[in-house]
Amino acid sequence: MTTKIFQGRMTGMRMLSIAAMGVLPLLLAAFAAWMEGRAQAEREADAAARIVLHQVESMLDHAVIVTDAVAGLVAQPCVQAEGVLQRVASFRPYLRALLLAQGSTLYCSSATGASQQPLQAFTRQAGPLPPGRSLYLVPGTQSIPDRAAVIVALGLPDQRGVVATLDGQYLLDLLAIASPRDRLVVAIRLTGSDTVLAAPGASPLSTAGLDALPPLDSERYPFSVHGAVLPAWTAALRAQFLFRYAPFGLLAALLLALAAYRYQRRRLSIAAEIRRAMAEDEFFLQYQPILALDSRTTSGVEALMRWHKPGVGPVRPDLFFAVAEDNGMARPLTRHLFQLIQRDLQGLCLPSGFHLGINITADDLASPDLIADVHRMLPARGAHAPTLVLEITERKMVPDTDVVRANMQALRASGAKIAIDDFGTGHSSLAYLERFPVDYLKIDRGFVAAIDTDAVSAPVLETIVALGHRLGVPLVAEGIESETQASYLRDRGVQYAQGFLFARPLGAQALQSWLQNQAPRFAPGAPGSA
Ligand code: C2E
Ligand code: CA
Ligand code: CA
Repeated sequence: MTTKIFQGRMTGMRMLSIAAMGVLPLLLAAFAAWMEGRAQAEREADAAARIVLHQVESMLDHAVIVTDAVAGLVAQPCVQAEGVLQRVASFRPYLRALLLAQGSTLYCSSATGASQQPLQAFTRQAGPLPPGRSLYLVPGTQSIPDRAAVIVALGLPDQRGVVATLDGQYLLDLLAIASPRDRLVVAIRLTGSDTVLAAPGASPLSTAGLDALPPLDSERYPFSVHGAVLPAWTAALRAQFLFRYAPFGLLAALLLALAAYRYQRRRLSIAAEIRRAMAEDEFFLQYQPILALDSRTTSGVEALMRWHKPGVGPVRPDLFFAVAEDNGMARPLTRHLFQLIQRDLQGLCLPSGFHLGINITADDLASPDLIADVHRMLPARGAHAPTLVLEITERKMVPDTDVVRANMQALRASGAKIAIDDFGTGHSSLAYLERFPVDYLKIDRGFVAAIDTDAVSAPVLETIVALGHRLGVPLVAEGIESETQASYLRDRGVQYAQGFLFARPLGAQALQSWLQNQAPRFAPGAPGSA
């Protein structure tokens, strides 16, 4: 992929991330409105159902009181009982009539006096009243056939009993208030029967799409109240909430998109700074010696890039390489690194078999130009040509493509070595081991720092070391700062070491002096001369 295409893609990704930041709060506002609309509708239906439950229980309480009050009259003939029945019935709210039952006949009514009404018309079943209290719902009574009534009955010994009829109009009015059209449905159902009472014209509970709440059961009487929400009402409430939340969503969207835009611009300006710094030759290299742990002889170096930004000071290489990688600048920066190495090598006299470690990025490995760049940096220099060690990290995953495989093969064919950097810190270290012909494993300095201090990391370090031994891959430990760490690693068979204990990263001149001092002790063989 050419740098231009890559940068084009990066710009596309940036725009996408800014757009995503803008869309996210709007989506959240829509989701919140969606949820809140439904919750509000359900709260309204529940409140209406609870009011109905409470009112119906209160009506039935009145009926229970009157049936209890006249229970003593059941053995009396109607002429004697009639007056008391009328008085009791007329002082109680909701009551239509009070009747006395004998067998399957109602023989006395507070409304019509002595009569012979069949009990079955109220209870819908043959025979006398069942013992104790029972509740019925009828579409009409003999005296008012076209108005629903609620029947509360009290069955007494000797097939006698009392029946109170409550006017259903109260219930119908109540249900009509609780079931506003196009919004909610509240209905009453008698326990154990299919009889349902709902406001006239209200949608039946079986209407498709109705959002039914769990029924509320009366704890004192055998009935339950069913509340449900009509889909149109939920939709209307959702629209209301969306209207309420949209301004906040829009504001958050704008702020987030602006923040994302500014963040991208800052990164872009760092990328532009890197480009400028390359042009103005602000980058330079330091080389940190790598030693054989047992003999402490220098076997090679790792090249580390440095940037002293004028007016700012040193900028950490892991930071500017991360920005470079995110902005399609990794390739230009690595190419610049190669130029710097080429320049430094002209002034250096390296022992034969010397290893030169360089850090490369996933973009470099995926580039068809990599091999040409390497050859340009290290033209055949005879016996004094350093062996190149390419250090690969997991900061960005190396893609498994034909170009990467071809690059690997060509590098190996030219004598270059491959090291896995920061081994064990990412999630693809093991995958890299399978995919690449690995020559060295570099143990991250985090694991080394944990020696003697962190009991948790020690088993990880031991595992990495054991893995290296089993695979027959030499290990290089980074960041060794103390003799304790050095001897701990040496005792476990780690072959090579890099760290402030031995040498800090050195400029090209200082490296030359270091190598001269070390000359008699130079040990070909390791990321030196293997
Ligand atoms: P790295 O590849 O793991 O490099 C080793 C880092 O450990 C270097 O930090 C080095 O200075 C530091 N180090 C070495 N010995 C010790 C020690 O005893 N104690 C401590 N505390 N640190 C030690 P540096 O130079 O800051 O580099 C940081 C990272 O930046 C490198 O980690 C590497 O990932 C990246 N980097 C540096 N130069 C380049 C480059 O030219 N190309 C690429 N792609 N990445 C680079
Ligand atoms: Ca490295
Ligand atoms: Ca490292």
